[in-house]
Amino acid sequence: MRFALVDGEKKEAEKELTGLCVGCEKPMIPVCGIKKVKHWRHKVNCECDHWWENETEWHRSWKNHFPTEWQEIRHRADDGEWHIADVKTKADYILEFQHSSLNPEERQARNKFYGNNLVWVVDGLKRKNDLSRFHLFLKNAKPIVQGINLARIPSVLDECSLLKEWSACSGPVFFDFGFEFPLWCLMPKTLKAAHYIGPFSRQNFIELHNGLLTQNGQTFSELMKVLTDIVFAYENPEQQIARPQGQGLSIRQPMRQRQIAIPANPSQKYLFYLNRSPQRRFKRF
Ligand SMILES: [Zn+2]
Repeated sequence: MRFALVDGEKKEAEKELTGLCVGCEKPMIPVCGIKKVKHWRHKVNCECDHWWENETEWHRSWKNHFPTEWQEIRHRADDGEWHIADVKTKADYILEFQHSSLNPEERQARNKFYGNNLVWVVDGLKRKNDLSRFHLFLKNAKPIVQGINLARIPSVLDECSLLKEWSACSGPVFFDFGFEFPLWCLMPKTLKAAHYIGPFSRQNFIELHNGLLTQNGQTFSELMKVLTDIVFAYENPEQQIARPQGQGLSIRQPMRQRQIAIPANPSQKYLFYLNRSPQRRFKRF
């Protein structure tokens, strides 16, 4: 883990410190070698959070976008079960950064435990072929509304195991294919058993979860609601209700100050290559 409690305060691992686990409260010792990222480990093997995975630079770089006090938060359910969430935001979203592959049972258990507040961020570069398969699969995606970069994907996901594995989540799943690309947001399956996907600016994702708003004044949760409404209207054209002007699809308004989360060009090429300008390439941390 990145943090342990030292005299009641969350501290990063440093030689000669000793601390207590933020989860099970048992003694932790610092590991400060050069091979792995600096971390704390339990002094004695114990039954701590069995969902916890060893952290990589990828985890750390994501967690570093959020305040220390939001990281590694013990979350306790009413029945007493607890787990350590990677990040819990001020708006009560649980951000889970998943690098290694996860068996379906554990994924479902985590979905159930954290409920609707869970937002997954999945390392799409962990396996060699996921990015190219995803790229190929997107060719069959069908943009649904002009001006909104959201596409329906085929319901049979066998050719893209990454999407297939994550397709049963009850909240959005964001795939991280590296800094050359935007995040890709897989929306939860609709009542009509369809899946929708769209590029999502990495910076907007980070800003929104840090409490900033979109250029239209929306929170992350409001933005997701707008996207869900767009999908609902697309799937149920007969049920569309007249909306007062300026509400609902306000995401279509022209850009004012900052880039909107879902860009405005629905062409598939653009869908995929958004942000892929080498000049704007970000460094890994
Ligand atoms: Zn522990």
